Amino acid sequence: MFVEVVFPLAFDKPLLYRCNFGKPLPGCRVVAPLKGKSKIGFVYNTASGIPEGDFEIKEIEKILDEGPIIPEDVLILIRRISDYYLEPPGLFMHIAIPPYARVGREPKRILLPKFVKLNESVDLTGIKLTPKEREAFCILQKQKFTSISELEEVWTIKREVIRSLLKKGVVIPSTCEEVLLERIEDRIVYTEDQKRAIEEVEKSFNNFNVFLLFGPPGSGKTEVYKVLAKKVFDMGKSVLILVPEIALTPHYIKRFSGLFGDSLAVLHSSLSNYERYRIWMDIKRGTKRVVIGTRLSVFSPLVDLGLIVVDEEQEPSYKQKEAPRYHARDVAIMRAYIKGIPVVLGSATPQLETYYKAATGKYKLLKLSKLYSTKVDVDIVDLNVEKRIVSEKLKKEIIERLSRKESTMILYNKRGFYRAIVCERCGNFVRCPSCDVTLVPHREGGNFLLKCHLCGFTRGVVKKCMVCGSERLNARGIGIQQLEDILVREFREARIERMDLDTVTSIYRRYEIIEKMVRGEIDILIGTQMIAKGHHFPNVTLSVVLVADQILNYPDFRSAERTFQLIAQMAGRSGRVLERSRVIVQSFVPNHYSIIYGAHQDYESFFKEEITHRREFFYPPFCKMARLLFVGKKKDRVIYVSNKVYSLLKDNEFGVQIIGPTPLVVEKVENRYRWAIFLKGKSSKHIRLLLKDLPLSVSNVRIYKDIDPIDLLN
Ligand code: ADP
Ligand code: ZN
Ligand code: ZN
Repeated sequence: MFVEVVFPLAFDKPLLYRCNFGKPLPGCRVVAPLKGKSKIGFVYNTASGIPEGDFEIKEIEKILDEGPIIPEDVLILIRRISDYYLEPPGLFMHIAIPPYARVGREPKRILLPKFVKLNESVDLTGIKLTPKEREAFCILQKQKFTSISELEEVWTIKREVIRSLLKKGVVIPSTCEEVLLERIEDRIVYTEDQKRAIEEVEKSFNNFNVFLLFGPPGSGKTEVYKVLAKKVFDMGKSVLILVPEIALTPHYIKRFSGLFGDSLAVLHSSLSNYERYRIWMDIKRGTKRVVIGTRLSVFSPLVDLGLIVVDEEQEPSYKQKEAPRYHARDVAIMRAYIKGIPVVLGSATPQLETYYKAATGKYKLLKLSKLYSTKVDVDIVDLNVEKRIVSEKLKKEIIERLSRKESTMILYNKRGFYRAIVCERCGNFVRCPSCDVTLVPHREGGNFLLKCHLCGFTRGVVKKCMVCGSERLNARGIGIQQLEDILVREFREARIERMDLDTVTSIYRRYEIIEKMVRGEIDILIGTQMIAKGHHFPNVTLSVVLVADQILNYPDFRSAERTFQLIAQMAGRSGRVLERSRVIVQSFVPNHYSIIYGAHQDYESFFKEEITHRREFFYPPFCKMARLLFVGKKKDRVIYVSNKVYSLLKDNEFGVQIIGPTPLVVEKVENRYRWAIFLKGKSSKHIRLLLKDLPLSVSNVRIYKDIDPIDLLN
């Protein structure tokens, strides 16, 4: 017989082999010759009939598995999405299957107890702990008992750290019973909205259907997921819950682990290979039946999958930004379709395309309203008039909060102390040597460092302009570190904390800040966009977006949508429980609809306005898009190849618009030049037909295909 084999690498197409001694099933591993070497590959399909043509067909050397190691539905999924995204199936195999399972070598078992707790009788004086060990210690202090997998999966504490703590006697083994005792479910009376949503999805348990669970933060969406997950679980089936980012979710995961205990698996990218393999095997065996995870977990080998949930479906982190490019939400929908099961997308600010589908009946819209109706006052401050970043209005409101012992949250999306360093003589900015961006001055300890936010390059302060040699260098712009200084000077008695990539170095650090905030121990929390997401802070009565137009200026058709989402998410942080709260949004374009509707958290009005622009300018959801990326070390080659491809595609028979080629907003990153061509067409089929046979690279220029791009600029 003949079979198609895929190697978990970047090959274009499945390769044909002959097998004379057995019938390897699709999804089984085989050993076969590839470029003169024996390699492990996966049977992708059994070929029907005898292939035609005059070429040599090599023979399979060995069949490694009796039954498929990739479940059938995942294999079908990979076939479909590799067609859809025009990516080689081998790349999807590569990410979907953990390395240990690919090579078929069982890792050495690492002996550790399943559960641990702090040793209360140990004398800590004289015991030195590393920073990571201290972190684990603090987590255990709060959690009392916990499982090793929780430490590793939820808190990203590595096994070596736990082993070392066991050796030092700080931690001792515990038992499962102790852990489960800690987790008791609250009793909740569901609202009418929640009950209806649950019923609707339940009716569809045996059919494919896409639901959009649309409700503001705190409207009880997560409670709905929990109930649905429990029902499916009790039917003996499995549940997949996708979340944008694990770091946001220690609280979130707690709510599920109370329900599912040992059957819950948490998957994210910072797991060790061993741990990933172990969980993957448990999922495949059916001992773990509820998976919470980031985009990659959409490929989990769940047994008898019965429900998929995609929380915060609008989040861009669901899109993989390197090959193989795919969108986990859309892959989840395809997977649900293949299995004939429901998929629930949840959001307060859905991606426009999603809401459009719900509004036009393709998806089912399930609306939840806020659990408590609170009054929110909205102020939009015109920065053209105000000029100062901490405006008078803002100052007055913060002072009021301080006297009432309530908290303020301020979003300012600029890392670093200043924004850039400029030469006063020739006007040149100090730039990263390998990227097309300015270096950002950060203050660390008492010193300043210049950092590239794209490639991580770091250097000390420069004394001279690299272009003209002048020493008249000047720092420009306010970064979030400087904002912190300004606030500390302005409000001397306030307890101020900052939350950005530079202060939040681990999930635990983030959790600590969140905990302090929940306890009301922070008066003013400033942060980059990471503070806009997912926390419940009862004490916050003032949410501030300091400069709202940062994203709005990007030349991307989604910039209004992104601006709206960020402001609405931030506005949704306050006014959860307390009677009255306030949102202040400062902007240079205070009349822009995305800013006004964002501040009022008015999604439906925003949608009505935005959809007319999308229709007028022929953008999604009214067209399908793709992007071709041309990446290479030689600029002239990149330009040459992209122009060549442009003229090749330009006059196509499908009427697909070809736009470009143009450099990306940041043309050079890590010494690679990046140009793009955009395609807009009525149907994604036409676009894919045009791009299908484009080579992966031409004269040292890589060509990447990005189907349904969500970010046109990077
Ligand atoms: P969302 O996911 O929409 O942000 P959650 O499900 O997290 O909302 O609910 C917010 C808070 O309200 C949680 O603490 C949750 O336990 C609680 N909650 C949810 N539904 C109800 C309800 N029907 N009655 C009381 N509290 C509820
Ligand atoms: Zn750089
Ligand atoms: Zn100069």
